[in-house]
Amino acid sequence: MRRWSNVSNAYKIPKVLPTTVVGSYPKFPEAKKALKLYEKGEISEEEFEQLIKEAIRKAVEDQIEAGIDIISDGEQRREDMEVYFAERLEGFVVGNNPEDWVRIFDNVHYRKPIVVGKIAWKGPMTLTDWKYATEFSQGRPVKAIITGPYTMADWAFDNYYGDKRELIIDLAKALQKELKILYEAGARFLQVDEPALSTHPYKDDIEIAKEALSIVFSGMEDAKKIVHICHGRVEKLFPDILDYPVDQFDLEFVNNNFKLLEAIKEYDYASSGKELGYGVIDIHSKKVETKDFIKNAIYRVLEIMPPEKVYVKPDCGLKILGDRDIAFKKMKVMVEATKEVRKELGYDES
Ligand SMILES: [Zn+2]
Repeated sequence: MRRWSNVSNAYKIPKVLPTTVVGSYPKFPEAKKALKLYEKGEISEEEFEQLIKEAIRKAVEDQIEAGIDIISDGEQRREDMEVYFAERLEGFVVGNNPEDWVRIFDNVHYRKPIVVGKIAWKGPMTLTDWKYATEFSQGRPVKAIITGPYTMADWAFDNYYGDKRELIIDLAKALQKELKILYEAGARFLQVDEPALSTHPYKDDIEIAKEALSIVFSGMEDAKKIVHICHGRVEKLFPDILDYPVDQFDLEFVNNNFKLLEAIKEYDYASSGKELGYGVIDIHSKKVETKDFIKNAIYRVLEIMPPEKVYVKPDCGLKILGDRDIAFKKMKVMVEATKEVRKELGYDES
């Protein structure tokens, strides 16, 4: 007789060097069309959901075909990582006037949300898509990913609190509720994105972010707690962030020419016991990395980190590549290179 088994346990994550993604994936035409028509009010709720689901399914299928172990929903519904949450939390308004648009980094522009009242959680923002992705993940864990309280505050205008810490703490309380429902639905890889932190590598900011993260992750002790940080001088956050209440830092390395490895070594990251999400794919270049480039990068980190603690992944979200074909090729070669290293290290893949 067939016994019931927990689907999420069906997939065997490799014991060493599991592969994963940061989260976003280039938008599929379905998602682009859905978001465009929705903005113009030219699409019904049902049609919109149908298109978004189609895009999520394709993003999941691409990751599975590439061989990624821990996947994401591709963030197909999210216009961007700031506005998406601001539009769904109590306390924000998001202007539609293009004059309000600001440039953050590279060519990323967004509508800057304004804090006009007390921040509160109104209801699930990411649960539907996370659940939908798990239906197609063939047992692979799907990361639950949200934008962090520090970044949400830093990328908004504050017209209400007048105190950065207070705003961040209220955001943390609201976002904890979001993460908690994902956790209760079964998510065990919980990732909070805090790209803004590296642009303010100061003691006070590092402390506020730490306090906020302990709130965001509270009540989820047996889940993998991950923080993704990028877009700046991440090394300046060392060694202060090493006592953050998280299990894994997900960081970029190609973007800084692997200079961050020096900080990992200098501050003895390995003895913190934390895992490292190790970026080996450049998301700013359309050139697909070679297998040798990735293998060399992995062997470099293995000089200072045990393979059980290293997750191989792109520097940041693949969305910015804007090209699904290239994103797919990059994931595929990353998986192939990682598999070869596992084999060379003597770990049985079967
Ligand atoms: Zn990033």
